[in-house]
Amino acid sequence: GGFLPFEHEPYFNFAQQDVAELQRAAFRQVRERYVGQRFPLYLGGERVESSETFEVRNPADTRETVWHFPKATPQQLEDAIAAAKTGFEAWRFSDPLQRATIFKRAGELLRARRMEFNAVMTLENGKNWAEADGEVAESVDHFEVFARETLRWAAGKPVYPMPDEHVTTVYEPIGVVACISPWNFPSAIPLGMALGAIAAGNTVIWKPASETPLSSLLMVELLFEAGLPRNVIQFVTGTDDVLGDPLVDHKDIRMVAFTGSREIGCRIFERAAKVQPGQKWLKRVMAEMGGKDPTVVCADADLDAAAVGIVQSTFGYAGQKCSACSRVIAEESVYEDLLERVRTLAAEVKVGLPEDNAPLGPVISQGSAERIMKYVRDGQGTARLVLGGERAQLGECEGGYVQPTIFADVDSADSLFQEEIFGPVLAFSKARDWRHAIELANDSEYGLTAAFYSRDPHKLAEARRLIQVGNLYLNRKCTGALSGTHAFGGYGMSGTNAKVGGPDYLFWFLQTKTIAQRY
Ligand code: GLU
Repeated sequence: GGFLPFEHEPYFNFAQQDVAELQRAAFRQVRERYVGQRFPLYLGGERVESSETFEVRNPADTRETVWHFPKATPQQLEDAIAAAKTGFEAWRFSDPLQRATIFKRAGELLRARRMEFNAVMTLENGKNWAEADGEVAESVDHFEVFARETLRWAAGKPVYPMPDEHVTTVYEPIGVVACISPWNFPSAIPLGMALGAIAAGNTVIWKPASETPLSSLLMVELLFEAGLPRNVIQFVTGTDDVLGDPLVDHKDIRMVAFTGSREIGCRIFERAAKVQPGQKWLKRVMAEMGGKDPTVVCADADLDAAAVGIVQSTFGYAGQKCSACSRVIAEESVYEDLLERVRTLAAEVKVGLPEDNAPLGPVISQGSAERIMKYVRDGQGTARLVLGGERAQLGECEGGYVQPTIFADVDSADSLFQEEIFGPVLAFSKARDWRHAIELANDSEYGLTAAFYSRDPHKLAEARRLIQVGNLYLNRKCTGALSGTHAFGGYGMSGTNAKVGGPDYLFWFLQTKTIAQRY
């Protein structure tokens, strides 16, 4: 009770000239206000500098340094963890209504500044306006959803009664949570993890990806402005040798919430298992990792709708989402027809500057582009290249631009079929029939998202039953999960299936106390 009915934050319509002009103005403002600035850490609520800093580059043209962040020292990490421990002693007893109110207020503050947040994100990670806007709108949704979830979980759960005891089950916070987040969703992903922790009454060490710290910092400052006690979040930036293993290994860390690569996720999972001297608990690990997400297209499907969904989910943000479609598995009888439709649409996805809202911007770095091109070169020996296959050059810009690329006739054993490429590269594979297509969809170590297109209720029912992923989408694209509605998280090597934005997410950050009392 107490809240208006929930509605997802609507997106801006940038096709409207006046809306586009406001977004352009926001870019000018952000460039004026933030470019060249040196930003702080937040430890125990204080802004803290560090003698050494690192540069954040604009991936659209890496000659441009956009801003500078501190390289935290080992002592500053110690200070952060100590401040979070102190903060926990008060925050764990905070009123859930207070927490919810802060989130509501932060959501309102963010609503008023969405275009500014969009522009900052574009300059850090190369999202175009629509992609950045989708993520910032998702962040507004997170505030609204977590406000509600805070109160829902505070109520506890009923137990079966017995006559001579009064018994309750209550949920309590666990301690200091390290939130380690990736550059591809620099506001919504760390925010989701941090709000989960804070909503439950925990305190946070917030460690953003070094490519995208400002999208995170602005979110932290927004929460402070909304009234969050300032020692509830410690914001630290810097190098992996100081903030990677040492943070995960620290005896006072109660839980690590991680989203990022499979390699790092597995490393954290393993390291966190070791009980350190003085550590009084088994660490909890949430690790949300990669995907190799298939779109299955049955012979009876609406091929136009499937082609549009495939192109959007494959090439949106240059394929740098763990939810991105990277495999199309089509029944033989429609395979060539679908391939041609997708190829035609994908050829229209033009490479350009994210700041101009181009459909396909740069990948995060030159190194990433090189890694992607290795798959593309290898693929030319094993599969049929039908589109792209090359880098792109935009004037003088130094950026990781890669043409939209499609391979056909990809064998299920091929690395194009099995490995997460994290770029604008799509593999098409032929299935004998729709059952074979479902088998191929499941032929992966990952299990994050999948899309399945058919008009046949029986096939749809079988897909629901058999496809092994955390997020299954029928007759729609496999990206763009909405907070509160499409709880997000995968099966298999995609991770711990934490399901951010879902009804059970807060449970990850809580422990359960049973209290039985006799009178
Ligand atoms: N939640 C996002 C989506 O549904 C993807 C998040 C990610 O790629 O890490 O598209």
